[in-house]
Amino acid sequence: MKRLLLRLAFAFCIILAFNIMAFAYTPAADKVGVFDAGANTYDYKSYNIVSLTNKGADVPTDMPAVIMDGRTMVPVRVISEGLGAGVLWLSQTRQVSISYGDLFIVLTIDSAEALVNGKSTALPEGVPAVLAKYNGVQRTLVPLRFVAEQLGADVEWDPETYTVHVDKPPEEVPFYEVEALNQDAEADMFAISTGEPADYDVKFFDQRLVIDIFNAKLSDRFSVPNFESAWAEEVRYSQYTGYADIKNVVRIVFQMKSGARYPENVSVDASADGISVAGGAPDETVPGGDAAGFTVVIDAGHGGDDPGAMSGNYRETDINLAVALRVRDLLQNAGVKILMTRTDDTYVSLAGRAEFANANEADIFVSIHTNASSENFSASGIETYYLAPGGWAVVLANCIQDSVIDQTGAFDRGAKTANFFVLRETDMPAALIETGFITTESDRVKLFDEGYRDSLAEGIATGILEFLDKTVS
Ligand SMILES: [Zn+2]
Repeated sequence: MKRLLLRLAFAFCIILAFNIMAFAYTPAADKVGVFDAGANTYDYKSYNIVSLTNKGADVPTDMPAVIMDGRTMVPVRVISEGLGAGVLWLSQTRQVSISYGDLFIVLTIDSAEALVNGKSTALPEGVPAVLAKYNGVQRTLVPLRFVAEQLGADVEWDPETYTVHVDKPPEEVPFYEVEALNQDAEADMFAISTGEPADYDVKFFDQRLVIDIFNAKLSDRFSVPNFESAWAEEVRYSQYTGYADIKNVVRIVFQMKSGARYPENVSVDASADGISVAGGAPDETVPGGDAAGFTVVIDAGHGGDDPGAMSGNYRETDINLAVALRVRDLLQNAGVKILMTRTDDTYVSLAGRAEFANANEADIFVSIHTNASSENFSASGIETYYLAPGGWAVVLANCIQDSVIDQTGAFDRGAKTANFFVLRETDMPAALIETGFITTESDRVKLFDEGYRDSLAEGIATGILEFLDKTVS
């Protein structure tokens, strides 16, 4: 009897323990249809649902991740876009292509093999990508662990909560160590050592020669020696953080002596182990601008078959071009490299304008337009647009707006956001100015006055220069 009781107690304990375990393991389940190509229909079954996190945050999905044949399956966009990869659905071949850098994964629906950079690779347990339907939503489900690990992510399964945690350690971007800055006093030349040829950019503004070295970090040992130079007054350096898309930038600023200019008096060249900066005494007879090393795209809106806004025979395109050409001349005099999307009355598509700026890796893009109103014929003044709050574009738009209002005394309609094509599709800080209302007589009279166009151009050019100055301070 005693033995039986003991056995019962033991059995009870096992049942209890089993129940506790079973309780902890109960996953939610729901019906998901998997496309059966043979029957040409969705085959609905109940599958256990899996929760997802990416970098610790819950990942919402319109179709849940589920377990099929022991593998966690997720909608392909959820995992690949969560990890920064691109997805393309190739309906002809029933394939989904996932691209990330130079990695290409191609999964074929219902196939146990994937192509990884063209090489056939077996999927774990042979569980293929499938077409699935859930609450009327159709998605391609792919094996989570396989895709995530191919994309370099860590995948962790938590059986307690039926959750898959995906985490992608940040990629280590290689960087140069900027080790030293030494002067060859005899040649009045400075050598910046990075150990190998460096990727850098040179800008000059108002006696400041600014060298930005990309993917670079200042070494702990870095210092600037005492020096005597005919052209350099002072050297400053910093780990610069002003670029939105480039993390590691070392900025070295040579404050130049009065009258010394780049590139007239100083040259900057790549060397086998870094960068060399050589110069001589400023020559007062050499003319030069205050700024150099910048590329600015000036975009005169409309043109050709597209006259822009019209008021009687007055055309927006003519105002835009006249002002743009004046801005070009003013900035060229300051030493800035100017690229124009058009210099005469020709048609350029919006995409063509943005691509032109992107292909030329311009530092900024400024589009010049004229406003119109079909209802309010007393609307007046100037406004400047940027795409979205935050970043350098806001600073650019405000510099231009404030400067143009200063120069013209026009009514200040302010700097504002707008989702314009040329602001959205350009890769650099971009602004679009509306110089006045062609449909309002008082504005229109001014916009066709040569002196007023000079003031507009002076304002825009000055605003741009103020902005460039800020970017290299
Ligand atoms: Zn326009």
